[in-house]
Amino acid sequence: SLEPRIAYIRDTVTSIQDYPKPGIIFRDITSTLADAKALHLILDLLTERYQDKGLTQIAGIEARGFIFAAALADRLNCGVTLVRKQGKLPRAVHSQAYSLEYGNDTLELHKDALSSTDKVLLVDDLLATGGTMCAAAELVQRTQAEVIEAAFLIELTGLPGRQRIEQSGVPCYAICAYD
Ligand code: AMP
Repeated sequence: SLEPRIAYIRDTVTSIQDYPKPGIIFRDITSTLADAKALHLILDLLTERYQDKGLTQIAGIEARGFIFAAALADRLNCGVTLVRKQGKLPRAVHSQAYSLEYGNDTLELHKDALSSTDKVLLVDDLLATGGTMCAAAELVQRTQAEVIEAAFLIELTGLPGRQRIEQSGVPCYAICAYD
């Protein structure tokens, strides 16, 4: 039996056919964010899962990951770490390129953002191929910090994203799933 809180959250996601191109179903979380109860339930579930894990930093992936990272960090008494697109961070960075469906992109993390004493939760809105999250995990690991888990609001189970992340040695959690 599906947890009623998960069912409530899942029902707030808007599915848009053929966006941004034919054949893709875009899972739009703006409607979830706008629903005060859904937002509260998401943070309750994440807090219950992570409150006793000794986390020190919540690392959000630009841009929708930032929203959940900041709110969760406040609940867990952690700091927020930003994993950003190339060229946005002003100090010395680690850079990690990753492949998208068309071409490549690069994520960056300040070199001094984390250290070996940090226990880090990585957060993003949606897991598709896992390329974005694997690049982010690689960046965190380059600082010698420990990645505790990668957390998502949504997982697309028809793609091998979870396997890709877990194969890299990082546990993976998603609140709700779509085929
Ligand atoms: P990936 O690196 O393939 O796991 O892609 C993850 C990123 O792409 C996430 O940050 C999502 O915001 C975005 N994304 C990929 N597929 C979708 C989709 N079907 N609906 C909404 N966002 C998506």
